[in-house]
Amino acid sequence: MAQATPITVAYGDGIGPEIMQATLDIIQAAGASIAPQVIEIGEKVYAKGISAGIEPTSWDSLRSTKVFLKAPITTPQGGGFKSLNVTTRKVLGLYANVRPCVSYSPFIATKHPNMDVVIVRENEEDVYGGIEHRQTQQVTQCLKLISRPGSERIVRYAFEYAVRHNRKKVTCFTKDNIMKITDGLFHRVFEEIGEEYPEIEKEHWIVDIGAAKLADTPEAFDVIVLPNLYGDVLSDVAAQIAGSVGLAGSANIGDDFAMFEAIHGSAPRRAGQNLANPSGLLFGALLMLVHIGQPAVAQRVHNAWLRTIEDGVHTYDIFKDGVSKQKVGTKEFAQAVIARLGQVPKTLKPVSYNTERAQEARKPRPAKAPEKKATVGVDVFLDWTGTPNALGEKMKTIPSGELELYMITNRGTKVWPGGFPDTFCSDHWTCRYLAKGGAAVDHRQIVDLLGRIAAAGLDFIKTENLCTFDGKNGFSAAQGE
Ligand code: NAD
Repeated sequence: MAQATPITVAYGDGIGPEIMQATLDIIQAAGASIAPQVIEIGEKVYAKGISAGIEPTSWDSLRSTKVFLKAPITTPQGGGFKSLNVTTRKVLGLYANVRPCVSYSPFIATKHPNMDVVIVRENEEDVYGGIEHRQTQQVTQCLKLISRPGSERIVRYAFEYAVRHNRKKVTCFTKDNIMKITDGLFHRVFEEIGEEYPEIEKEHWIVDIGAAKLADTPEAFDVIVLPNLYGDVLSDVAAQIAGSVGLAGSANIGDDFAMFEAIHGSAPRRAGQNLANPSGLLFGALLMLVHIGQPAVAQRVHNAWLRTIEDGVHTYDIFKDGVSKQKVGTKEFAQAVIARLGQVPKTLKPVSYNTERAQEARKPRPAKAPEKKATVGVDVFLDWTGTPNALGEKMKTIPSGELELYMITNRGTKVWPGGFPDTFCSDHWTCRYLAKGGAAVDHRQIVDLLGRIAAAGLDFIKTENLCTFDGKNGFSAAQGE
């Protein structure tokens, strides 16, 4: 027999130890060939003064197994503690968050009986770099970073997931009617990579109306791929409308490592009472079994779980008079699933982990040649209080060298020259300088300009270079420009 696959396991806090035990009991009874290595995370580790919530030596286990099955932890209140999830995601490079959201009508109450959606969320970029600055008395900013390689690998992951799991359609959500450069890149990459998957249907929705459609008619979607922030919000919406946040598991996948968990927290008020529903973590474990090449075990457990739900054996959180038949605790629920191993549901659709499907060879995409970058100007951001015209007049007195003051904007709206008197202006201004005659600008010209602006007594807070790529503007126009 093949050697058992080593996995790193953390029992976590609150209901964590109970649901982890139940999960391991079920998958091992089903024949999972795993060799768990237990590490400590969460409250006990934070209490030792380790702000990351994980013992430094635990990384050794993770580095050797590369697979992490993790129960929820209780995040300590107060400052100074780092989120273990964010740390793990960043340290292990877990760029894809995968969350299947399925309804189990009529056995678990839901307004959407035919929902079966998989959310594939980009996990590392967007505003989650947490790069924030307060720049003036009134204005704060957060940088939203979307990269081509980051977008390419999450979009490719979504299409590969769709192929492997026999899914028919991949939908992309962005807000590229507003964020034409950042979300525009994500959308463009989706179109480009989508061309390699002619057998998969593709569509794009603006995230606002897409989210409304998802909440109203989730059965219209199959796999949805989206940038980090939209994915964070919509994956919870999707899990909730499927029936219960307590039922969903998720996978965090990187090139070398993967972490599997329930999407809910440690539910401290339910801890130690044999009450919690282990299904969310169990579904995380099923994603893990597929990842480590044991899909047949995952299928066996999944079908037994469906049969248990169908038989009305329910934990308190999904128990409903008239539908449920037996209210059980965590342990009894696990035993009920184990007792049904080998059975399939009668009313719900049995699952088949169709991993035998031959992958079509994809032609490698030709590497994109770097585009020719030219700096053609600079946006100089100022902390200043007054009217647009007063600022315009003041800026005109500052010699601008090879650059020309083109316009002044406030929170993205053009206010000088020729602004509207009604536009509200904060203390955060952007002076856009462009090279005279479209010439190239070098760093020295920008530094000299900043020197003269500072000498005129103005408080510049940052600059953004204005660049073109193969002649196309790599910067947004202003509202009203
Ligand atoms: P929670 O998900 O723990 O609980 C929300 C509600 O759902 C509660 O009423 C709870 O009793 C119920 N619930 C959750 N899981 C359940 C289960 N398996 N069975 C039955 N009922 C269940 O969210 P919370 O109360 O906001 O957070 C509690 C703690 O968990 C906090 O410290 C939070 O920071 C942490 N948390 C951890 C993770 C993680 O480790 N991945 C994720 C979310 C929250």
